Amino acid sequence: MSPKLARTLIWTLALLPALVVLTTLGERDLSSPSAFLNFLGRLTGIAGLALMLGAAILSCRVPGFDRPFGGLTKLWKTHHQLATAAFLLLLAHPLLLMFAAAGFSLDVAVATLIPRGADVALWTGWGALLLMMVFLGPGYRFFGNPDYQRWKHLHRLAAPAVVLALVHTFYLSRTLPWIWEWVLWVGLAALAVASIGYRFVWSRRFGRRSYRVARVDRPANNVVELNLTTEGPALLYEAGQFVYLTPQDPNLTAGFGEEHPYTLSSAPGEPGLRIAIKALGDASRAIGNIAEGSEVRLEGPYGGFFPKTSTPDAPELWIAGGIGITPFLARARHLAGVGERVDVVLIFCVQDEARALWLDEFEDVAASLPGFHVQMHYFYKEGPLDSTFVNERCPNASDRTVYICGPGPLLTLAQQVALSAGVPGSRIVTEEFDLL
Ligand SMILES: Cc1cc2nc3c(=O)[nH]c(=O)nc-3n(C[C@H](O)[C@H](O)[C@H](O)COP(=O)(O)OP(=O)(O)OC[C@H]3O[C@@H](n4cnc5c(N)ncnc54)[C@H](O)[C@@H]3O)c2cc1C
Repeated sequence: MSPKLARTLIWTLALLPALVVLTTLGERDLSSPSAFLNFLGRLTGIAGLALMLGAAILSCRVPGFDRPFGGLTKLWKTHHQLATAAFLLLLAHPLLLMFAAAGFSLDVAVATLIPRGADVALWTGWGALLLMMVFLGPGYRFFGNPDYQRWKHLHRLAAPAVVLALVHTFYLSRTLPWIWEWVLWVGLAALAVASIGYRFVWSRRFGRRSYRVARVDRPANNVVELNLTTEGPALLYEAGQFVYLTPQDPNLTAGFGEEHPYTLSSAPGEPGLRIAIKALGDASRAIGNIAEGSEVRLEGPYGGFFPKTSTPDAPELWIAGGIGITPFLARARHLAGVGERVDVVLIFCVQDEARALWLDEFEDVAASLPGFHVQMHYFYKEGPLDSTFVNERCPNASDRTVYICGPGPLLTLAQQVALSAGVPGSRIVTEEFDLL
């Protein structure tokens, strides 16, 4: 299934209740402005709640479920879009109902908005909206750079918000034909509960694999590569996929018991796992001192950066920036292990020679694997990456599928460069190291 089809299906599912309401349009008398606004108010409420449930369904994090969406980071984008659309519709919902009621009198309009006494229906509606503001707000860059852990804790308020919104709907909604009312809300709510149950109960108890840190390599002073082994069943994964890693070393100064996503830098066939981590904040810095022999728990694998099946000699251009080299490291190790002829050019963008991590290993792969080439791009010498550099160092760049991974600014720049080098947008694949 293509990512476009997967997105279309989830949007259709989440908009189903609103679509059912629209099929009843012919039976309604919407000739007065009040009736029309009232209908719109109800429609936005129904669509908003259904989109909210759709966003909850997408948060399940079942390994493999993200693949049709193009990986977990892309799936989170759809989740984010559903939640944003839900929020905007739910903000419009009470306003439209108030304007509709204002057609009768100001008192009716006020009574539509302001709950009196134990008016469960209105209190739950406002409660849901307020909780949504609190848990969604910190996720938008508009409010400054989000603190990931704080955002994650606040996000738990999504569950009570959905429950309050469902109670509100149960009391007030008489817009859908009753049979649909039950089938759709119960169906969507059951899927949302199953999804959240999987994520927070099932996968925590049964979905995490226990590994031990066998050795910590230090390719640079701010980068470590953990070598992990297990006595249990090994994790099956593809090159370029990532896991959520939860360290269990109680002596860590930060990040103990906290899950963070990291790409597996090992080749899928090798014994044990490797994960390369750059110190970018508290938890990733502290893990540099993780005790050898300590336990880490892994959940996954997630992501679908490289296609599941690819023709070995289909031409590829890889553009990596900084620690964004890790999925390429895994794939280069995998290709070197397989040993078949490939047609790959890697452009590795770093500030200077000191940051060209694993360059020796890439050069060894290039020496042993026909068709594998490495081109270094040093910012201090060359300035920002541009299409002249790409076209000079990479023959027929426009015929290749381009894979890009790196920090946000490089990701944007490299996509522009690939487009201006003549690569069609449909052949540019990106992996972001940021989930917000
Ligand atoms: C798909 C994916 C693959 C990644 N692969 C690698 C890798 O191979 N090597 C590597 O060094 N880094 C990788 N990262 C980045 C790594 O997850 C973050 O650097 C790390 O979580 C930062 O945590 P911190 O507490 O040290 O830093 P903070 O200062 O808390 O955060 C630094 C940045 O990381 C993000 N971040 C923080 N905590 C989390 C979290 N729990 N989940 C998601 N994002 C978070 C924040 O939004 C912020 O942009 C990957 C990220 C993603 C999304």
